[in-house]
Amino acid sequence: MQPTTGNLVADTICRTAEIGLTITGAADAGTLTIIDAAPVTVSGLCPECGNPGKLRDHIVRTLVDLPVVGFPTRLHVRVPRVTCTDTTCDRKIFQASLTCADDGAKLTHRVTRWVLQRLAVDRMSVSATAKALGVGWELVNQVAVDACRKLVYDNPSHLDGVRILGVDEHVWKHTRRPGQPSSFVTVLVDLTPLVTGAGPARLLDMRPGRSAEVLRTWLQERSPEFRRQVQVVTMNGFAGYATAVDQALPQARKVMDPFHVVHLAADKLDLLSATPAT
Ligand SMILES: [Zn+2]
Repeated sequence: MQPTTGNLVADTICRTAEIGLTITGAADAGTLTIIDAAPVTVSGLCPECGNPGKLRDHIVRTLVDLPVVGFPTRLHVRVPRVTCTDTTCDRKIFQASLTCADDGAKLTHRVTRWVLQRLAVDRMSVSATAKALGVGWELVNQVAVDACRKLVYDNPSHLDGVRILGVDEHVWKHTRRPGQPSSFVTVLVDLTPLVTGAGPARLLDMRPGRSAEVLRTWLQERSPEFRRQVQVVTMNGFAGYATAVDQALPQARKVMDPFHVVHLAADKLDLLSATPAT
């Protein structure tokens, strides 16, 4: 299909060439900036059979993109719809895929990266990030959760080589109504790279709740190879975690991590200083 010619100045400012688009127009929609764009190249191959298709018409696909000069932005991308030329193919009509976003996605890939940077690096809140994009809190939260899951869990070697396992609790919600589940989560971290000098600790998983059962269940869900290779488990002083390790990883050595050792010692000193001298 013929490449679309766009606006070089606008493409340079908005860096749209990097995401395979070229800008064809723009509009001020008050709180939003609308940018009309088109794909620079379109393959037009049927995703089902791989045969070249025939252009049928175009539709406008709306995508949330990075804010421009502080205003939330929507891309209106003119996407070709194509008819498959193979009469035996089950796919009669398809929409051309874009390199800047997954099929059916509401956001461009670069917005997802931007969301993670704002939340994880710049410590922005989900609300502030959502406001900058002009979208809802739930969408930003879901995008961040999905992206983290993809980064952490979809790596098939994610749980390989864990010899030193760190376990701790974390209060993820500071307000709780009666009857709601625990506001604690159990956090599991691979400390092996820290000890070997290979790099920083790695987040392995987080599970709702703080109990022996939560940790025992997580450990029992792992493969026998995983459980065999864990030599040391560092944890806080919570007896439930120690019980779970005794039951699921009997060969592993349990140690209290330095933070909790110092914390415990500081508590005892406070107690001592608060006790009247006799
Ligand atoms: Zn086809």
